[in-house]
Amino acid sequence: MLGVGTVYLVATGALLLVALGVGARALVAIFREGRERSRKRREGKLERYTEDPVYDRDPPDPDAAGETPSTCPQCGAENDAAFTFCRECAAPLGPERVTND
Ligand SMILES: [Zn+2]
Repeated sequence: MLGVGTVYLVATGALLLVALGVGARALVAIFREGRERSRKRREGKLERYTEDPVYDRDPPDPDAAGETPSTCPQCGAENDAAFTFCRECAAPLGPERVTND
């Protein structure tokens, strides 16, 4: 008959093995993803390491800089067309960007 100590040791050992297995698998997955991303980045398929959609927004259109400067609806200051906010009073510029009505 097994003693309580032996049962405790076996149970603890089994739990430890399960935890190690899960942890090791997670570490391997993280390592693989990092390697995959650095490979994509080297090949130019990935611009940034993150896949967060917040950082995937298109950069400001360089052609917009050539457009007529927009006048601030708040203070009347002239701003570059590429600007999203007024350089003088930081009010949002552009008809499609103004949200307060
Ligand atoms: Zn302004």
